[in-house]
Amino acid sequence: MSFIVIARYTSPWSAHIDRALLDSEGIKAYLIDEHIIGANWLHSLAYGNVKLAVPGIQRAPAEAILHELKSGALEAALNAELGLLQSACPACGSTNMQPAPGAADRAVQFLNFAMLGFFHPLPWGRFRCCVCDNRFEVRE
Ligand SMILES: [Zn+2]
Repeated sequence: MSFIVIARYTSPWSAHIDRALLDSEGIKAYLIDEHIIGANWLHSLAYGNVKLAVPGIQRAPAEAILHELKSGALEAALNAELGLLQSACPACGSTNMQPAPGAADRAVQFLNFAMLGFFHPLPWGRFRCCVCDNRFEVRE
């Protein structure tokens, strides 16, 4: 049985989330280089990141599941099941988005780190759509 790398991650934790999802769907997936990068994640790029590998015959269903996860469909289904509201990208409607702090937010974070020695989580209002790369603000 040959294994094929279908995804790469800079952190082992992100890789474990996707591996566990594939495991829950009955696809046996393995992580490559997770321990060496977990010991020193700054070397992640040097080792080619943490690699997620699946059996070659299960490549297509595994990639479909990961695509469904990245599109936000799984999260939207969970939110609908729990009755939670979620913001969506105004351009494409995807709910898969990440915080996208502006320059002022980054300056505050830098000063916070320089003066206190740690990053304090701030409430971000700006987001970036992971599907179409649209940047937008969400007001509560
Ligand atoms: Zn979008």
